[in-house]
Amino acid sequence: MNVVLAELTEELARIVGNDNLIRNPSELLLYECDGLTFHRRPPHLVVFVETAQQVSEVVRAANRHQIPFLPRGAGTGLSGGAVPIQGGIIIEVARMQKIWQIDLENEFAVVEPGVVNLALSEKLESYGYHFAPDPSSQMTSTLGGNVAENAGGPHCLKYGVTTNHVLAVEVVLPDGTITQLGSPYRDTGYDLAGLFTGSEGTLGIATKLWLRIVRKPQAVRTFLAAFHSVVVAGEAVTQIIASGIVPAALEMMDHLTIKAVEESVNAAGYPIEAAAVLLVELDGLSAELDNLGPRAEQILFASGAYLVREAKTEAERKRIWAGRKGSFGAMGRLNANMYLSDTVVPRTRLPEVLEKIYAVADQYRLMITSVFHAGDGNLHPLLLYDEKKPGDLEKVHAAAEAIMRICVDAGGTLTGEHGVGLEKRDYMSWIFSNDDLAVMRKVRDIFNPEGLCNPSKVLPETKVCKCFVVGS
Ligand SMILES: Cc1cc2nc3c(=O)[nH]c(=O)nc-3n(C[C@H](O)[C@H](O)[C@H](O)COP(=O)(O)OP(=O)(O)OC[C@H]3O[C@@H](n4cnc5c(N)ncnc54)[C@H](O)[C@@H]3O)c2cc1C
Repeated sequence: MNVVLAELTEELARIVGNDNLIRNPSELLLYECDGLTFHRRPPHLVVFVETAQQVSEVVRAANRHQIPFLPRGAGTGLSGGAVPIQGGIIIEVARMQKIWQIDLENEFAVVEPGVVNLALSEKLESYGYHFAPDPSSQMTSTLGGNVAENAGGPHCLKYGVTTNHVLAVEVVLPDGTITQLGSPYRDTGYDLAGLFTGSEGTLGIATKLWLRIVRKPQAVRTFLAAFHSVVVAGEAVTQIIASGIVPAALEMMDHLTIKAVEESVNAAGYPIEAAAVLLVELDGLSAELDNLGPRAEQILFASGAYLVREAKTEAERKRIWAGRKGSFGAMGRLNANMYLSDTVVPRTRLPEVLEKIYAVADQYRLMITSVFHAGDGNLHPLLLYDEKKPGDLEKVHAAAEAIMRICVDAGGTLTGEHGVGLEKRDYMSWIFSNDDLAVMRKVRDIFNPEGLCNPSKVLPETKVCKCFVVGS
């Protein structure tokens, strides 16, 4: 270990205590990637922090030694955001798990960033409230990570993605200053909490969050509709939305996904022969749903569904959702590795885009499945491969790029919810001009002038980008 790193290690040990510092190379390997696994690089050090003050002191120490650092929550990110690609320090916030306050009168909760998404809704359950953004990773991903990635989820169609639920954020800025962006009440001036949300750990480290909480709906009705064709199911999505109904969730799964889910231990009762199923969940007042439920059912049949089944009990509804939320895990049955793509298209273009995506899979002879937030056109083609098989990984990269191209050409964008991170950084010029990117760099540099906070993420590198040399 070089002298700078040795000095820094001693300083960090004084701040967080020896037991909260990882420096052993074999343990550091656990932090070399996130859920994506394409990009790997272990950090030089990991520190477990418990207070904003500790985060600030760690950040100030890193600045003194010019060592890069980045925040990490649960590491479930799917774009390489939490990978320390230039080495340095991972500031692990997952132990910051306090729920400080639940303010029902003002409908917000104050939490630490390491609180797991589902834990907040579980805590709110007895009050009749919940935290609406529900990424499929909600059993593990942290609220800090959700804010950093502006996470979406099935129920974000009606309720909005994470940014619509962030009122204020306490942030340790990249120079160590602790500040608050936004206000739990109506704010004035620039929406800085909005700017921070989705900044993927490049503008600072969130240490406290004020999150909007939502009263649980009086009634919920969940329908499962089966189709003989994915394209027809895609058309049904457009018909539902065009009818003026805004479902709480509108999710699609294709045949391979249905099969994998049904064969997994948590069988959800999906019709195994279907080419695609749509999950349509309506929520609101009971009287309103008495009208909307039959209308939705009628539209689904009129759009080509051969079967529409409503969940009759809460247990059945939970089983249907367990299948959807467990679908990525179930894919492990199909091949050794998977790459989960994340793009967006205008939902009216879903049918044609889906056809083109399956054609890409044929072209590259890859097994592909689709399970996605159809209501907001947020696609998740899942490419299955075996990294030990020569040529498979190259095929996946090429197919993923072809899929992104199709979606961008259809008027969509590079990512709906998994972020840009390392994975899509070099594709940003597909949708932004050089001038756009230059403005984004200026914004980042105001917060992060030294470039030490999560370097090399989100924006394409330029010739003048800093590379930090950290000792071995
Ligand atoms: C099976 C599976 C299903 C998924 N489903 C969804 C889904 O439905 N919707 C969705 O949006 N995503 C989904 N994801 C992706 C992922 O779970 C989300 O991006 C999630 O928000 C990441 O949270 P995390 O705590 O794991 O963050 P990490 O992976 O640890 O970090 C992600 C990024 O956030 C930054 N960060 C973390 N904590 C902080 C903080 N306190 N302050 C500032 N920056 C921080 C990191 O630097 C990094 O850039 C899924 C992932 C998996 C593996």
